[in-house]
Amino acid sequence: MLNKNTLKFLYQDLDELIAQYRTNKIDRFSFVSEVERIKQANEVILNGNEDFAELVENALLEKQYESLKQRTKTALENIKAPSSALKVLILSGAGISAESGVRTFRDSDGLWEEYDVMEVCSVKGFERNPQLVADFYDARRRDLESKQPNLAHNMVARLKRNYPKQIDVPTQNVDDLFERAGCPNVVHLHGTLTDLRCEECKSVFEIGYKSQIDVICPRCQSSNIRHNVVMFGEEAPMYQKLQQSINECDLFVVIGTSGNVINVAGYAQWFEYSLLNNLDPDDKLDPYFKVVYHEKATQAAEKIEVYIETFLSN
Ligand SMILES: [Zn+2]
Repeated sequence: MLNKNTLKFLYQDLDELIAQYRTNKIDRFSFVSEVERIKQANEVILNGNEDFAELVENALLEKQYESLKQRTKTALENIKAPSSALKVLILSGAGISAESGVRTFRDSDGLWEEYDVMEVCSVKGFERNPQLVADFYDARRRDLESKQPNLAHNMVARLKRNYPKQIDVPTQNVDDLFERAGCPNVVHLHGTLTDLRCEECKSVFEIGYKSQIDVICPRCQSSNIRHNVVMFGEEAPMYQKLQQSINECDLFVVIGTSGNVINVAGYAQWFEYSLLNNLDPDDKLDPYFKVVYHEKATQAAEKIEVYIETFLSN
């Protein structure tokens, strides 16, 4: 943000300078020394890709003057767009779907008690007993079919539709409740329950809420199929997208996650503006956020929406 604004002002400076020189309000000597000052401040921004000195020398020849003016204007326009458009990252976890009845491992009445997590959610467990893992995810899909998105899913979906370029929606959840709420471009950091993956050709295809028994790959017809959920001990490729969002966004919103898997407290420290909504207070998490709501996501949804819309309108 700082860089974008700095760059914007530098180009405005340059633009102004060119105008002054052209209308003979400053002489060539002042022009060149001023340009040198801007050049030095500008060096980081140009990354050494442009020979700025040469650019300015050429501009001093009258016929190339317009070209520099135009390039400056174009650069300014390009910069204005992102700096005027604030971005918001809304990261969610199990807490947002718990109210829809999607059971999680961390609930007190959760799945931990019925299953050994390392048997069904780890690479080693999968290698030991792939059938148990397949049964586990079949049960999760069956369970998901009857669930409905709640007010919090709807709120995020509405924001994403209204501000498609300004809002990123990464989630740790593997359910499809955001999609069913009408939210486009959800980034599923840990994969998707309603898809399967072919181990042979690596293609990912939709299965909905069905069992994976007897399913073959629609692309290569292999029966070597697995769930499309990231296991412990596996890479999570979508984390790159999360990192990109963190770099680009101005407001960091976290809903329904304890930060045990993703270090949200660590990320929150990078943001001037941040909002956390979790049911329970957490001394290791709460102090890192500027705004904290301790209540159900459905109860906080309206406040969160107002906060984000107000932020984006500024
Ligand atoms: Zn295949």
